[in-house]
Amino acid sequence: MVPAMSEHVHVRLRRGLGVTEDGALTEESYCRCGATWTKVFVLDDGPGAGTADAG
Ligand SMILES: [Zn+2]
Repeated sequence: MVPAMSEHVHVRLRRGLGVTEDGALTEESYCRCGATWTKVFVLDDGPGAGTADAG
């Protein structure tokens, strides 16, 4: 299907970084059209989680 003309590809511009009360890192982004996103990076700092393959 062809997207409507009113739709456009959002350009996510980084607004800033933050930290939640849980200590997770957040990245706020926004588009010129007014759309916003908040990406949360969950930091798995559990000792002995079993994943030692950190490239
Ligand atoms: Zn947009």
